[in-house]
This record gives sequence, structure tokens and C-alpha cells, in this order.
Amino acid sequence: MDSRYLEQAEEQSPHLEKVKFQGEFGETVAQITDQQGWTRLGIEEEHLSYARFRDLHEKFEGELSPRKKLVERLRAVKEPEEMECLRKSASLLDQAFQHLLSWLKPGVSEKEISLELEYYLRKQGAQGPTFRYIVASGERGAMPHGVASSKKLQSGEVVTIDFGVYYRGYASDMTRNFSLGEPDARLREVYHLVHRAQQAALEGIKAGITCREADALARRVIEEAGYGEYFGHGLGHGVGLEPHELPTLSFRSEEQLEPGAVATVEPGIYIPSLGGVRIEDMVLIKEDGVELITHSPKDLIIL
Ligand code: ZN
Ligand code: ZN
Repeated sequence: MDSRYLEQAEEQSPHLEKVKFQGEFGETVAQITDQQGWTRLGIEEEHLSYARFRDLHEKFEGELSPRKKLVERLRAVKEPEEMECLRKSASLLDQAFQHLLSWLKPGVSEKEISLELEYYLRKQGAQGPTFRYIVASGERGAMPHGVASSKKLQSGEVVTIDFGVYYRGYASDMTRNFSLGEPDARLREVYHLVHRAQQAALEGIKAGITCREADALARRVIEEAGYGEYFGHGLGHGVGLEPHELPTLSFRSEEQLEPGAVATVEPGIYIPSLGGVRIEDMVLIKEDGVELITHSPKDLIIL
């Protein structure tokens, strides 16, 4: 690292050896590899910039060997201390959602909801938001990633809220919906369908099945009801030091779920010019099933 980070690195990682750059990064790496007699160097292909790659390539005479998701694979299975942080991070979301339901009043905008969530969560000890919060009301709910806008909530609208925080470095992620007054009949049907699809996944997911099989548990329910084309994304993703990490619960992944991994289960249906619903929980994957880490209610909430 360069001199700006030496002290911080010492504080955060006292057990590691710290090396200060002399001149360019590549030169320092070349000096170390020469001293050690190393001829092959693994690089994180998804994180190394082209400029830094070129620098390494010029200075280091050995072989640069690209590696994909090297650290991420090790991170997928959580240790007990990590689980403590993840559980606390998730419980803050449950508290915040409860708070939000009692705080909501007519005329608030999506942005005000997002700000209230963030303010409340920070006061409760969260380090900060993991991503720009999704607060999508009415037709905006058809956008799976509709970040909070200045639109005010109208009665009869279904609202999707997707949020998360960092707590001692660990992320959380949860999505819930509520309706302001009686929702459109079709959206009510969609809500119950998404809920059933999520339930099917929560009942069927366990260590040893593949990510594609996990995804199919929920997708089958949605497809059989005729809404398959409106469930465009994968079922979920791992959560840990980052809000999106391994495993990827996608219809494209043949990787097996390992016991001790933490992932989200978040089926959704998004219908253009009508709206959308997504229900997302974090779970710990075990040998014989899953354990929920987020606990907010999932009956359709009508305010
Ligand atoms: Zn989310
Ligand atoms: Zn998510």
C-alpha cells in the first residue's frame, strides 16, 4: 500500500505483513517476487484495472495467472463471528421496517421514506446503507431497481422497499411490500403468488442442491401461474462483506449450495404499467434446510 494507508492497515490487520510501495506498484511487487523467487503470480481478474495490469506486466517477469472469485469462494461460507454480525445487521432491518410502518403518513414521497429508513438505521448503530434504497410505488414498482424518486405515494398503490445496511462491516438485504389502502385485484393476486413462490423456495432449499435447482423451486410456481415472463432476475445472491457476493442463486449456475453460506431468497414479478412485487429474505443454508435471518411479517400489509 502507499503511505496513506500504512497506519490504518496496522490497526485493521495487525497479523499481516505490511509493505509500502517504493515508486510504482509493479516495481514493489517485482522486488518481492524476486526476493522470494516466485515465478507465477495470481491476479484477481475481476478487480485489477487495466492500468495496474499493464504496470505489473511490464515489471514482473514471471507469469500472471488470472483467477476468478478466489477470495469470494472462501467468503461464501460464514464463520460464527461473521454470523453474529450478519444477524445483527439483518435485525436492524426488521426494526426499521416496523418503525417505518408506524411512521408512514399520507403524502410522503419515496425519497422521504428512503431518508427516514437511513436516518433511523444509523441511529440504531448501522454504519450506513449498502446501496441506494429502492422505494418503488405504483407503476414504478414494475422496475426491479426503481430507486427512490420524488414521487409521492398515492392511495391504492403497492410499494416495494428494498434496503440494507452495514453493521461492523457486514451487509444485510431485505425487501418488503405494503399497500396504501385496497390494492388492485391483480396485484393482490401477484402478491400472494410471489409469497407462495418464496415459501416453496424456503421449504426446498438446502445444502447440496445446485443454485439452478434452488432458483427453479420458486420459478416453477410463478411459471405455472402464467407469470414466468415477468420474473426476469435470479432467485437470490450471497450476502456478507458485500451486499452481493457468492453464491449466485441463478438459473445459469450449476454450483452447489454449501452449508454455512448466507443468501437471499427474492422472487419477484414486475408487470409494465401495473406495478411489481418482490419479497426478499436472508437465510442461512444448512444441511437439512434454511434458517431465516430476516423476520419481518409477510402477510400483505394494507395501511
Ligand atoms: Zn434487496
Ligand atoms: Zn438482494
